[in-house]
Amino acid sequence: MSETRATVAGIAVATGHYIGGEWVDSSTSFEDHSPLDWNIILARVSRGGAPEAARAVDAALAAFPAWSALGPEGRAPYLHRLADLIDRDVERLAAVECLDMAMLEESLRQRVIGRGARNFRAYADLAVDYVPRRWDSQGTHNTVLRMPAGPTVVITPWNAPFMLATWKCAPALAAGNTVILKPAEWSPLSAAMLMDLADEAGFPPGVLNLVQGYGNEAGAALVGDERVRRISFTGSPETGRVIGRVAADHLVPFTAELGGKGPLIVLDDADLDAAALTASRMYDDAGQVCLAGTRLLVQASVRDEFVARVTAAAAALVPGDSRLALTTLSPLIHPDHLARVDGFVTRAREAGDHVLFGGVRWRPDGLWYEPTLIEPHGNDAEIVQHEVFGPVLTVQTFGDDAEAAALANSTPYGLSAIVYTSSRERADALGAALRAGTVWVNTFLVRDLTAPFGGIGISGLGREGGNYALDFYSDLKTYQVREGTTHG
Ligand code: NAD
Repeated sequence: MSETRATVAGIAVATGHYIGGEWVDSSTSFEDHSPLDWNIILARVSRGGAPEAARAVDAALAAFPAWSALGPEGRAPYLHRLADLIDRDVERLAAVECLDMAMLEESLRQRVIGRGARNFRAYADLAVDYVPRRWDSQGTHNTVLRMPAGPTVVITPWNAPFMLATWKCAPALAAGNTVILKPAEWSPLSAAMLMDLADEAGFPPGVLNLVQGYGNEAGAALVGDERVRRISFTGSPETGRVIGRVAADHLVPFTAELGGKGPLIVLDDADLDAAALTASRMYDDAGQVCLAGTRLLVQASVRDEFVARVTAAAAALVPGDSRLALTTLSPLIHPDHLARVDGFVTRAREAGDHVLFGGVRWRPDGLWYEPTLIEPHGNDAEIVQHEVFGPVLTVQTFGDDAEAAALANSTPYGLSAIVYTSSRERADALGAALRAGTVWVNTFLVRDLTAPFGGIGISGLGREGGNYALDFYSDLKTYQVREGTTHG
């Protein structure tokens, strides 16, 4: 056993794996850079592979009987203690996450890290409050029981790493499963801090484990372990397909929260200021948000007014160091990702799409990309049909609501959609027609943790959120007793 730590934002962050309640280092490591200054190596993080994955599954398997036997009431205090510790450490978590993946520190402090604590509280309470369905039929008393499923692998992407890890670990743990978390190699640090907090909260060894490393090494080894009973993945459709094939081979239930290319539909009766403000929020986190409404679909009669407002709002954004309160535009996560985003814009130009503003790096020596708006040559343009995952929006017009719905539903994605209108009737008709897991009307990113969450098409498979997640992480059992044959 060893416990190597790197000092990040003045905080000692473990760089190894957390397995069976102990920190373990690998003999090889990978460099974790800060997007705020790529010359800074924040940490050399252990590069896990098959041995570490197997060891973590061993630990999760060993811890499973006692943890699952505790029942929801017995597990809830652990989750609540962890939530309290997250709240206590918001500043520390925000400081490290900001350096690691460059989300604005103010957002992390005010909103994002606290959501992690809420995830643990919400799922602890939901699991305790579960009322099994009971009914009589065909001479039997019937009950639906939830049984913990077993070791669960959670794989998360680099955007919002802390929030997404808690979003998945919380219901898995509340349902009685033991967990192995594999965060993305581009932002691995807040997951290590979560393990320290779980340790402090007194989680028994092996209940929550961490394996660091690359997707095709550590991730593939974890997913490929036949002892794993659930796989919960958030990331790109490409990786979702790879993991889905393994899950199919092993017949392991699998959820996938994948990419998005959401429409933001602006009807001619909308509050244009509010709609434009929301459109400009699509540049938050440099557009690295799966739920973003990156396709602006605007009724033709208000197109010019709306674009003028979005242009003004985008011009007011302030690129800079995400730690500073004045900054409103953060850099992209990685030079490779910057090249990918710029590649989309370059190809759009070559294809005859019209760049209305932006379309260039903010300055040559950093990972910032200017807020960008593109008018495509047609709906089949690559920039319309593929997730860019950067500060790049497109704008298209439509004549009537039916055309808006048709355009909105014309990509292979279906994660979220946004509608701005002052008519409830038009909103409801569009809401029914839109092919998306979540539809917001005159608002954005409002989330009730009990609501189902997931995507349609290549945006995902299965649903998490509320009891949908607890059902996914459980094996459901129908329990039938013949009437009149038992008493008590
Ligand atoms: P990615 O698919 O490249 O990687 C995601 C995770 O999978 C990483 O931890 C990676 O190491 C791991 N991985 C890669 N190959 C693997 C393999 N063969 N086996 C097991 N694990 C493997 O995605 P990314 O670039 O990190 O994240 C961006 C994507 O995530 C975007 O498409 C975005 O829209 C999506 N996303 C979706 C949601 C949602 O809720 N639907 C939320 C956030 C991000």
